[in-house]
Amino acid sequence: MGPALFSLTGRTALVTGSSRGLGRAIAEGLAAAGASVIINGVDPERTRQAAAALVKAGYQADAAAFDVTSENGIMAAFKDFDARGIEIDILVNNAGIQFRKPMVDLATEDWRRVIDTNLTSAFVIGREAAKRMIPRGCGKIINIGSLTSELARATVAPYTVAKGGVKMLTRAMAAEWAAHGLQANAIGPGYMITDMNQALIDNPEFDAWVKKRTPAGRWGKPEELIGAAVFLASPASDYVNGQIIYVDGGMISVL
Ligand code: NDP
Repeated sequence: MGPALFSLTGRTALVTGSSRGLGRAIAEGLAAAGASVIINGVDPERTRQAAAALVKAGYQADAAAFDVTSENGIMAAFKDFDARGIEIDILVNNAGIQFRKPMVDLATEDWRRVIDTNLTSAFVIGREAAKRMIPRGCGKIINIGSLTSELARATVAPYTVAKGGVKMLTRAMAAEWAAHGLQANAIGPGYMITDMNQALIDNPEFDAWVKKRTPAGRWGKPEELIGAAVFLASPASDYVNGQIIYVDGGMISVL
């Protein structure tokens, strides 16, 4: 009991899409709780700089730039971790993209790109991580869902379908891997201030809608996901499996 319940000392965490945005805040939070973190992004320079900033702040961090939609890239990254003796104890499947278009105008390739980036990547990286966690008898997988894991919204169909899938992938992971000592859970962020949402934040009508629609009356800050992430990464959640925790200022609970 006590602080050790939430301690990540000695653990290694891979956070996909952590060169900026929510992933970066989560990586920093896990590092502050004692984990050694591996920063990921597509852009190698931004990824390297994000890891360097964490090291400068006194944390343990490394960089692994790869595209989460590239199976070859994922396999190469895990091969490199294996060769260097790096064991991923905590995987946060966070990398994601948004693409807004009415469904009647949506090209199939854009549908596939969003599903691949937001959902299939979590399966492939989850599979590679779990293969290595299962023989060790422990591991934490945290998938990043969304309010669209539950609720649809016009113009974001593939995102909604992918995030609904992330919720069910989390349950599928729990169903297969809980008996091996792994915990798979998800976090569903509400409307948070990141690059992905900059156009919405800058739109006065949308900004007013978010503030009115959210019981907390404001957008969320990336660092407000840290509590849930540390909980789901730590021994405190060892009997929690298949859950999605909404960190949304209450939005999903009200009409
Ligand atoms: P940002 O656009 O701010 O950051 C996205 C991050 O993902 C970057 O680090 C980017 O890397 C990385 N990334 C994007 N595509 C890939 C890829 N193919 N391979 C590897 N890395 C990739 O997004 P957010 O921080 O806002 O979102 C993070 C997650 O949270 C997403 O899954 C999103 O759906 C989810 N979410 C966000 C909400 C919000 O309000 N912001 C609400 C609910 C869910 P690079 O820097 O190299 O481009």
